[in-house]
Amino acid sequence: MTRLFSGTPWDRPPTCDRCAKPVADCNCPPPTPPKPSGDPSKQTARVRREKRQKGKLVTVVSGLSGSQTDLPQLLTQLKSSLGTGGTMDDESLVIQGDQVERVSAALAKLGYKVKG
Ligand SMILES: [Zn+2]
Repeated sequence: MTRLFSGTPWDRPPTCDRCAKPVADCNCPPPTPPKPSGDPSKQTARVRREKRQKGKLVTVVSGLSGSQTDLPQLLTQLKSSLGTGGTMDDESLVIQGDQVERVSAALAKLGYKVKG
């Protein structure tokens, strides 16, 4: 007698994405917790310009918590949307140049509340 569901996905037990064993036989450690994905609208970013050595102006984004926001990823997003350089400084993001308006607009677009 042929098995009605032979060869269809229904025929196979669910398998683990990582070791490809049936879930019942899987010994993988629990998945690593996802990166922080706090609701941006519940966070307020402070954006200000600062003068660094040799009178160089930078734009500093502070007030965002690394436990709520994936700051390195946010920095990457800001750098690519502004087309400028930037670094992390503790829990602040330091963007090259005087870009308060553009940084504020970019953060607002991502859903953050922004305070000057
Ligand atoms: Zn597994």
